[in-house]
Amino acid sequence: MSTIDTLPPLRQVIADHDLSARKSMGQNFLLDLNLTAKIARQAGDLTGYDVLEIGPGPGGLTRGLLAEGARRVVAIEKDQRCLPALEEISQAYPGQLSVLNADALAIDPLEHLTPPIRVAANLPYNVGTELLVRWLTPAQWPPFWDSLTLMFQREVAERIVARPGSKAYGRLALLAQWRADARIVMSLPPEAFTPPPKVSSAVVHLTALPEPRYPADPKLLEHVVAKAFNQRRKMLRAALKGMAPDIEDRLIAAGIKPTDRAETVGLEQFCALARLMAN
Ligand code: SAM
Repeated sequence: MSTIDTLPPLRQVIADHDLSARKSMGQNFLLDLNLTAKIARQAGDLTGYDVLEIGPGPGGLTRGLLAEGARRVVAIEKDQRCLPALEEISQAYPGQLSVLNADALAIDPLEHLTPPIRVAANLPYNVGTELLVRWLTPAQWPPFWDSLTLMFQREVAERIVARPGSKAYGRLALLAQWRADARIVMSLPPEAFTPPPKVSSAVVHLTALPEPRYPADPKLLEHVVAKAFNQRRKMLRAALKGMAPDIEDRLIAAGIKPTDRAETVGLEQFCALARLMAN
């Protein structure tokens, strides 16, 4: 096992605290500390950063983040069975780890964090996309985070970084790429996890841009994109018909052919269309 700290190997932590993985909690644990250290490194320089981690579980990634020099880690874990194991990490890094026993969807951790902030997590699959969308659509931009380093099912990771014309391209790609740089930085096979999930996983690293790539009102852009991809097989003049009586003219003014389908239209054109919808 690894020597990133003086704490016991994760298999022993799991055995000592009886942390058998629960499917209902989306629990697929990473037990190789070399791997969790590698993921922590993908988050960039952590020195001087507070790190928000969702779902630390037995603490493999948490230990990686602390060993990589995070100023503080604030970890939100729903399963209270994990708390004693996380308490041991807290003791090994005095004052640097705060664990909140809560549902990440129901809590606002910001009062516990001091900027600059990075987010890093091996996300529970059942809440991962919802959290990402929330982090990408705050009321204010720039957001509270400088970067997000997140493990997803491979298929979700591909939707985040997808380009126009691909099957994976849609709302998630546009939301992510409008105000952030997004790339896949690691791929992990099912066997990397205990128990192994059915599908492969990937780590996506997103860096917040200081301002959006193209100007647009966030709500209007989200609305146009949601409508356009709701019926992704339809031509846009049909999919967006209800939005304005002169939708064809607006599409043309935005540089989009009314007969195009949403999956072929780029971010710049969607932003232009959102601006035209403001009138
Ligand atoms: N970070 C650990 C690792 O890499 O081994 C565990 C990752 S496991 C995929 C997801 C973790 O998220 C589990 O520990 C699970 O208990 C926790 N979890 C599930 N739903 C959650 C929620 N709504 N809020 C906070 N934690 C949650």
